[in-house]
Amino acid sequence: MKYRNWTSFNTGKLFSHLERWKLIQKNGKCPPPALITVDPSNYCNLSCEWCNAWKVRKNERMLSDDVLINFVKFISQWKSADGKYGVEAVCIAGGGEPLCNPYTGRFLLELNRNGVDVATVTNGTLIHKYLEELLVNQYVAVSVDAACSTTFNQYKGLEESSKLFDQIIDNMDLLCRLSRKKECNLGKESPSNGVNYRMLLYKDNIREISEAARIAQEIGCNSLHIRPAAVPFDSDGNFAFSGEEIELFKEQVRIVEQTKRPDFGFYYTLGKFDDKFQKCNDFKQCFAVFMTATLMPPIGEGTKDSYCLNVCCDRRSDDAMRLLTNEADLNRISQIWGSDKHWNIFHFITERQIREICPRCTYYEHNKIMENCILTDNMLINFI
Ligand code: SF4
Repeated sequence: MKYRNWTSFNTGKLFSHLERWKLIQKNGKCPPPALITVDPSNYCNLSCEWCNAWKVRKNERMLSDDVLINFVKFISQWKSADGKYGVEAVCIAGGGEPLCNPYTGRFLLELNRNGVDVATVTNGTLIHKYLEELLVNQYVAVSVDAACSTTFNQYKGLEESSKLFDQIIDNMDLLCRLSRKKECNLGKESPSNGVNYRMLLYKDNIREISEAARIAQEIGCNSLHIRPAAVPFDSDGNFAFSGEEIELFKEQVRIVEQTKRPDFGFYYTLGKFDDKFQKCNDFKQCFAVFMTATLMPPIGEGTKDSYCLNVCCDRRSDDAMRLLTNEADLNRISQIWGSDKHWNIFHFITERQIREICPRCTYYEHNKIMENCILTDNMLINFI
């Protein structure tokens, strides 16, 4: 099993942000995050069983064209006090299906025109409507989560007879072919660029991992990424993997490793989980709230051209994680970043919260690095 590889899935890249993160200090001016996630839409045309945005989807709002375009202008200008650090990348992702927002395509083009790296995570159903625009992405990750219609329909809240799975595979095939024909970011020769088949493991689909790898290679995806689904922060539900399921997982991983083409990337993220695939949030503080943020649609009575800013994508629906609510002026983001209000959120997230309330933390490694390499130098980092 390969735990280190020179791809986007290598968490070693986090160390290149050490100097930026050293500037996260109270009474100092916190540097902008390197990456911001944008949720263009709270709508979704599917209903995944494990969806971590099930609550925010009830909001049924979108970011307006004006907010999206002005946001590109704003991040192009937002720099740290010494001018050294800015927002380098935007991930267009959750809170609903991003391509349900008709302005997402234009947003992608605008980000690319301004030199911001961009990637999109989508359920794949609407790819055919935005083929040209999606080519500017460094990668497009498609949350397929299954390797056949039966499992797909069961997980996504669809009729048994739905043919949407086939449509998504066709869409991915189309995008892969187009990206190879054109000179574009998506078609770059790199193990990290291209179309990525994604699968959240949720018990029944474990046995389909090798079939997903076969389909992904056949249609020209450059990689398959799998990881256990996490229990959403705001759900009462719970699920655990049995010993047999974990053995089946290992068996499927073996099959893929032995049969895949050498140039096909097969990645599995297990570092944030214990050996039973349960969360293991074993850090004391959450500095990640200063390392990234999520731009979200307005809520409730918020005006059309307003937005919300949240500091934890795993707790999207949690009011306590919201730094700005129904705000119209995008410059407020840089004004409030690192303010007392921001630090109050940091202090609110106690060690007990992290262990008991937070779900499996997306920013697990960010927090571990802060704790072990910046606050204390447990790795004696200069001894290279
Ligand atoms: S899940 Fe918890 S620990 Fe992780 S970033 Fe969110 S608030 Fe912080």
